[in-house]
Parts: sequence; structure tokens; C-alpha cells
Amino acid sequence: MSGKRRCKPTVKRGLVCVILLVMPVRSAAPSHASPQALASRLPDNARVRAALDWFTPNISWINDQQVLLTEIPAPPFQEAQRAAAVKDLLAETGLPAQIDKAGNVIGELRGVNEKEIVVIAAHLDTVFPPGTEVKVHRDGSRMTAPGISDNGSGLAALLALARAVRFAHLKPQRTVLFVGDVGEEGEGNLRGMRALVDTYHGKLRAVVVLDGSGTDHVTTRALASRRLEALISGPGGHSWSDFGMPNPINALVRGSVRFINTRVPASPRTTFNIGQIEGGTSVNSVPHEARLKVDIRSESEDELARLESALRECIIAGVRDEMDSARDRSKGQLEWKVELLGSRPGGELSPDSALLAALRAADEVVGNQSRIERSSTDANIPLSMGIDAISIGAGGSGGGAHSLEEWYDSAGRETGLKRALLAVLGVSGVAEEKSR
Ligand SMILES: [Zn+2]
Repeated sequence: MSGKRRCKPTVKRGLVCVILLVMPVRSAAPSHASPQALASRLPDNARVRAALDWFTPNISWINDQQVLLTEIPAPPFQEAQRAAAVKDLLAETGLPAQIDKAGNVIGELRGVNEKEIVVIAAHLDTVFPPGTEVKVHRDGSRMTAPGISDNGSGLAALLALARAVRFAHLKPQRTVLFVGDVGEEGEGNLRGMRALVDTYHGKLRAVVVLDGSGTDHVTTRALASRRLEALISGPGGHSWSDFGMPNPINALVRGSVRFINTRVPASPRTTFNIGQIEGGTSVNSVPHEARLKVDIRSESEDELARLESALRECIIAGVRDEMDSARDRSKGQLEWKVELLGSRPGGELSPDSALLAALRAADEVVGNQSRIERSSTDANIPLSMGIDAISIGAGGSGGGAHSLEEWYDSAGRETGLKRALLAVLGVSGVAEEKSR
């Protein structure tokens, strides 16, 4: 692991603090201006400029935090160690930080208006099981390790944004919460974001999610998905002496073949994936049970419901086929069940929302172009509840997400950092000193 390099502030921190404390604050701009116009003018503010200028000289510090956090394993439901590290790093920036009941880390940058909250969040968890080698290999600006981009880059950006606003002594109009949240991946089922939205619901005005690398997209449409597990069980026995007994693996295979032949429409786009299949104890035993896990996604809730029923029907048919062909039915029956492991609701950000206007203004300021995307992210939860939310990349470039060859290249990452900061400040607003 490479050594930490600390930034050297060029402004005398104590002095600026005092000025901020004694000066009354007011909203930075008149309320009749459009959200996009307000956001476009953010760089006119000297403190916003100071925050934006913080990134470039501190890229190596940001990269080092990314390596440090990526090398702390964070398998699903085991994010606590990484959460503690993020908490310490947020606290180091001077933000009061705490860990909530769900395991989310929350650093608070208090605004003039504490009754309204903007969240910037990056998920802590990875898809990798305990024991995965997470050592980061560095080659110039390129880093390789499981989780380095998804979501090492988001977490590094979260910390960088916190540092930048603290360095610039920037006070937002609305309170901004810097959150490292748990349970985004797979069976985590967005539990961290669910808990967060539950806690702050009445006050929450916007959520900006940092997930993975890049600046090429903005996810404003939440892709609905469901994860299901099918389980078939039976008496089990010996492969020779109990031959003919109904076999749960046979039934599961029969049902699976039916399911994968289910037709899905190209529009609304609908997909399914059998992601895990397991069962049995040895090659010469009739298994006691067999199970599979399926992920289904669709742009349409109706298609999602249709596909879920198709899975149930196929499993029932698979069990029936196996029972019909079993040679010795006196040796027991097959039981089956299909359980919902997780469900991610859909939703969509209004095209004329203040948050999208702020993001578009941010794109303009940094000279970036981005396309609207539909995806399944932490933003699903607020979007499904009518709260403005987007998910964006944290800058730089990356690939191989969810694989052991995952990589991230930090070249040009400051564009993504500035874009994210401007989007957040565009919706939080910035307090400024009253002119004397
Ligand atoms: Zn992610």
C-alpha cells in the first residue's frame, strides 16, 4: 500500500472559520431564478471556486483513500469495518459522523436551513465474499482490485467532496449529509438507503448517489427488479437402492428449462437471469433439496409480475413432471416453495426537477455531456417515494465491475468530482456572507 499524502491548505483555516461564524448568512441567489440558472452561477462564489480547485492538487490523496478503503473487505452484510474507516475519515475532515442502526455512516455538514436535507451517498458494500483477495495493484493512474471502481471510486469521491467543502469553509443553505450506505448490492436489497430515507423522509429534498466511475450518464429512471429463490425438497436416498424416488434436482432442472424458454418482450425491456443453482450432497445420493436464485428486471411492473408468476408456474410444472415420471412414488413426495429475496421498486425523476437542472448545469460548467439512463441503484428507493434522486459515476474510468479483474483509472477524475459537487450544491444551495 502506498503512503498517505496530505493536502496542504493554502488558506489559513482558523481565520476563515472566524469570518464564517461572525457573518450572518442568506440565500446565495434570488428565489425567482430557475434552478439551472442558480446552479450555473455557483462558480461565481469564491468558496465554491475554492472547493472546486481543491481536487486537482489532491488527486493522489483521493487515490490513496480509494486504495485504503478498497483493501478493507466489505462483503454483503459485513460492511462494519469499512464503515468505521469511512467514519474516521469523515471525522478527520471535521464533520460530525455517526453510524446508524442499519450500519450507514453519516457525516453532517450543517446548513443554514437544518430542516431540509440533501444526501450524497456512496454504497460501502461489494459483491465479493469473505476471503476474496482485495489487494490493490497500481500501475500509474490505473488500479486493479475487486471493488476498486464499484464502489471504491464512489467512496473516494464522497470523502473528496467532504474534504473540499470543509477546506473551502463552505456552508450550504440546506444541510448536506455525506453517507456511506450499506446493502446496495444483491441481497442487501438497498436496506441502507431504505433506512436512511425512512429516517429523514419528511426533510429529504434530494439524493445524489455516487456509484462506480465515469461522467457519461445520469440515472434518473429506477429499474424495478425482483430476486427470487426456488426451493424443492424431497426425502433423499441412495442412488442405487432408491432409484426411482423423486429427485429435487431433476425437478428443478425440469422447471428451469421451462422457465428459460419464457418469452420476454424487447420493449418494455425485460430480463431474467438464473444466477445461482445448488443442491445435493454427493454424486451417489438422491438429494434432499435443490435451490436456485433468479434475478428478474423490467421497465414495466406488469412484466415483472408476469415473470414472477411464470417462475412459480414453471417450478410447479417441474415438480409435477418429476413426480409423474418418478418410478417409485411410495418413497415420498416433493415439496416446493418460491420466496421473494428482494424487490426494488421502480420510479422516475421528473424531467423538470431542480435536481436534474442542477446536474445539467454542472455538466455545462465542467464541459461534460451525459445521457439519461435507467438502472437499478440506491436511487430506486427515494425515486419510488417521489423524492428527487439521481445516480452518477464518480469520474475517471473503470471496467470489469463485479469481477476479480475490476479496474479503475483515475485520469481525469476531477471532472467527475467537480460535477458531483456542483450537482449537490445546486440543490443544497450555498450560504454566503452578507455584503458589508
Ligand atoms: Zn455499485
